[in-house]
Amino acid sequence: MKFQIISHMTTLCNYDCSYCDVDKDGIFISLKTRDDIIDFIKNNRNYIERFKFFGGEPLLGFQHISHIIDATSMTLWNNFEIVTNTSLLSEKVCEYLERYFSHIFFSIDSENDFSFERVLSFIQKYNLETKLHFNLVISPWKEEEALEQFNILYDEGMRGFNILPVYFTQVWEKQNLENLWKLMKYILDISLSDSTLRLYGFQENSWENTSLANNTIFIDVYGDIYYSDIVTTFMWQILKDKLKLGNIKYFDLQTLEHYDFSMQKKYISLLEKKNYDTVKWQKQLHKIMDYFSEYLNKKNG
Ligand code: SF4
Repeated sequence: MKFQIISHMTTLCNYDCSYCDVDKDGIFISLKTRDDIIDFIKNNRNYIERFKFFGGEPLLGFQHISHIIDATSMTLWNNFEIVTNTSLLSEKVCEYLERYFSHIFFSIDSENDFSFERVLSFIQKYNLETKLHFNLVISPWKEEEALEQFNILYDEGMRGFNILPVYFTQVWEKQNLENLWKLMKYILDISLSDSTLRLYGFQENSWENTSLANNTIFIDVYGDIYYSDIVTTFMWQILKDKLKLGNIKYFDLQTLEHYDFSMQKKYISLLEKKNYDTVKWQKQLHKIMDYFSEYLNKKNG
């Protein structure tokens, strides 16, 4: 069994999205944790499928990212991933994205400046499109802007999209859900006539599994290892102790091959169920996403 590793480079972000629940206390990985990550990758190379740089905004710690890649690229060749808000893209960053990364996620929403011209010029110059997905974040009252962003990117030839409505915020209203439904239908209808359009981010969205990705392990800025990246958010910090698996300094991924995660899954399910039942319009929001998820899964075979 191989694992996807998600590694927090920093809790800091240069944006301040209204829906963001990440605890942005401004901590970066230390030089020691950086070196521990390098050892961890080398020692566990047979058990790592992909290694994802995450934040906050991970490119605020690009010096750590480039150092880790320089030291481990022969071990994990072309199996790096990143999620970034695109604001810190540069020639140097894009050289690394082109050379070493298998998947790139550009998160865009309607609250922050997104420089289409600048980002598109990087994508073209460094041939990033085939491994690029846009995380199209849809927050309440911003559905029209999300549609506009999709149309601009689609017209520019971009074809990879994760559709990500913001979950567990009290701000959704009935009108927003109707707008979301129309937006989803519009995009899915296009995908029916354009087989090159790659849509993700649906899976099953019932309360049992919104926070889980299979075989994924999360490393925080201190090198502590958790069952899920949900521990980075305020809402889920209550589960931190229960989801902790150890520290990279002493960790052997092989020990997780036959590990029974049922307790961790149970804790997450209980809290998700509670939020699902108490946060306004969540049932309806999940229903919409489940409907399109099923549709998309059938379409993708
Ligand atoms: S870009 Fe991401 S991490 Fe930064 S504030 Fe927005 S949602 Fe939070």
